Amino acid sequence: MTTTFAKKPIALETLEPVAKTAVPPGESPFGRKPKLGAGKSRKKEIPEGLWTKCPKCATMIFDKELDANLKVCVKCGHHFAIGARERIHALVETCSFEEMNADLASVDVLNFTGVASYTDKLEAYQKSTGLKDAVITGIGRIGTHRVGLGVMDFTFLGGSMGAVVGEKLTRLIEASTDRELPLIIISTSGGARMYEGMFSLMQMAKTCAALAYHAKARLPYVSVLTHPTTAGVMASYASVGDLIIAEPNAMIGFAGPRVIKDTTQAELPPGFQTAEFLMDRGLLDAIVPRKEMKERLIAYLEFLTAGRDGGNGAG
Ligand SMILES: [Zn+2]
Repeated sequence: MTTTFAKKPIALETLEPVAKTAVPPGESPFGRKPKLGAGKSRKKEIPEGLWTKCPKCATMIFDKELDANLKVCVKCGHHFAIGARERIHALVETCSFEEMNADLASVDVLNFTGVASYTDKLEAYQKSTGLKDAVITGIGRIGTHRVGLGVMDFTFLGGSMGAVVGEKLTRLIEASTDRELPLIIISTSGGARMYEGMFSLMQMAKTCAALAYHAKARLPYVSVLTHPTTAGVMASYASVGDLIIAEPNAMIGFAGPRVIKDTTQAELPPGFQTAEFLMDRGLLDAIVPRKEMKERLIAYLEFLTAGRDGGNGAG
């Protein structure tokens, strides 16, 4: 019944060339990504997929240039969203990444139906993103360090954590514990996946329990928070790293600012829920620009594994 309504804006967008815009920091991460600000940047003469307008400084950036710069604005340093695969590619040594549980896919346990059924949504997102779910996990080498690496992708249903995200991360954490490897999880998420109700909420406890065993084995865990990291993910594995670092300007929080404002009836301070705000208040250990992420992670791994027998070194 909603098909005609849903199809119309899609058809319009394909006809009119639209400059892509990402969710600017501070905006709600819960809406469908490219809609925000898209109206403002609509320029008929710009062919789609060639240029992207920076939401911060309004510079038009050639897409190839943006890709080469790890999706960071060449002019103002604004961090655009980056896919999990691109991120992994930028971090690990060539051909060193072995993906784990690549075929795990969600099932619709609750027979959830809203505007569209959960099964239809999953299918659509799997098709549009080329991902099975919102996280990629595996073991790879960064510098000389073998690490367990989990990277979330916001384009898959808002990076929401359902049973598959939780299970893949738990298996990654357990494998890292077994193999005595440090762990890095790069988060971006709107929170728990409500289509899976209780099953998604369970993942918060499950991932944290696995992390407790990893910590008990005295293995380091670095949590990297990227724009946006919120709700159930922030309230579980993302916030319990030995080191918690974030990308500049990332929105990080539990509930959205409007909910907090309504609940507390208080004015929120400027910069609320940004990485910089949290850094000032001691919730983060560092803010690391994306382009420096690899070398900084290597330095952190050196530091955190120093003194272990032979480290977790080369291999
Ligand atoms: Zn810019």
